[in-house]
Amino acid sequence: MKIKQDIRDLSFEELAAELKDLGEPAYRAGQVFDWLYKRGAASFDAFTDLPKSLRFKLEEGFLLKSLVVAERLVASDKIEKFLFRLADGNFIESVLIPAGKRNTLCLSTQVGCKFGCAFCASGMGGFKRNLRPSEILGQVLILQDKLSLNLTNFVFMGMGEPLDNCDSVVKAIKIMNDPRGMEIAARRITVSTVGIVLGIERLKKLGLQVNLSLSLHAVREELRSKLLPVSRKYPLPEILRACEEYIKETGRMMTLEYILLGGLNDTAEDAAHLASIARRLRAKVNLIPCSPVPGLDFFSPPAEANRLFLKTLKEKGVNATLRQSKGADIQAACGQLAGKLRKT
Ligand code: SF4
Repeated sequence: MKIKQDIRDLSFEELAAELKDLGEPAYRAGQVFDWLYKRGAASFDAFTDLPKSLRFKLEEGFLLKSLVVAERLVASDKIEKFLFRLADGNFIESVLIPAGKRNTLCLSTQVGCKFGCAFCASGMGGFKRNLRPSEILGQVLILQDKLSLNLTNFVFMGMGEPLDNCDSVVKAIKIMNDPRGMEIAARRITVSTVGIVLGIERLKKLGLQVNLSLSLHAVREELRSKLLPVSRKYPLPEILRACEEYIKETGRMMTLEYILLGGLNDTAEDAAHLASIARRLRAKVNLIPCSPVPGLDFFSPPAEANRLFLKTLKEKGVNATLRQSKGADIQAACGQLAGKLRKT
């Protein structure tokens, strides 16, 4: 017996092939995509302009599940964190970051993470599994359709390493960008990576103008391999080369994320080295003061030291910002997502 899969796990082409096998005309794929991604349908019954016979076939052949919001927390700075319960009982989190007219949604791509970056809560519980495309898209759809939130930008920067789940992430991005799907401009989508070179190359071949963000966090190879174990597989020169090729191919400007960790990566030499990398990639630098994670000993340098670090970058001609660490009081800041219900 064929195991039912969620219909939102299918690309447009895969859906068209399935419908053809069911004896349906080619134009049906467009109609079904429309209901799934433009009209916010939560069940096959809602596809009211499609024949009952087709709705029955869809019901028989596929699942159409929504994520369940297990918890919604609002921080004092208006950042919101959504904890979703998946069908298998696992939890993931998404974070909504409002800033002026922008509403950026930070999406998860895995349950847990296998990369074990030293400062990050997502890797502390180990890796459970990759998210399927339907579970990635579901984070967007539930906020947009059920909660009527106006989302403008999307960053793959939540739990998990997006480029370690390339198949699902690429499929989700294609559906997000597809005019027959969610119709989101590629320039409003950002993929963040700790430096998975093969994934960067695959993303480059997509031919979309998706933004790339590198979680750099350390410029000295020795420190980087301690903070981000993945760098033992992908040394920095290789990662930077892959980034350069990505920019050349897509014409997009990239960003470098740099969590400021007191006593570790915050020296004047670090700032100078970071500036040279940023200039080479013509990248913008986002400095993020470290947010505390229970059980980990990392801390942010003092505010004055952070400002000095920023000043050094700017003096060296780098476009840089010092982000306020947001959502820390609900554990929604960078590195704090752990996919757990709050103990009250
Ligand atoms: S920073 Fe990213 S890659 Fe590293 S452990 Fe956290 S989620 Fe995984």
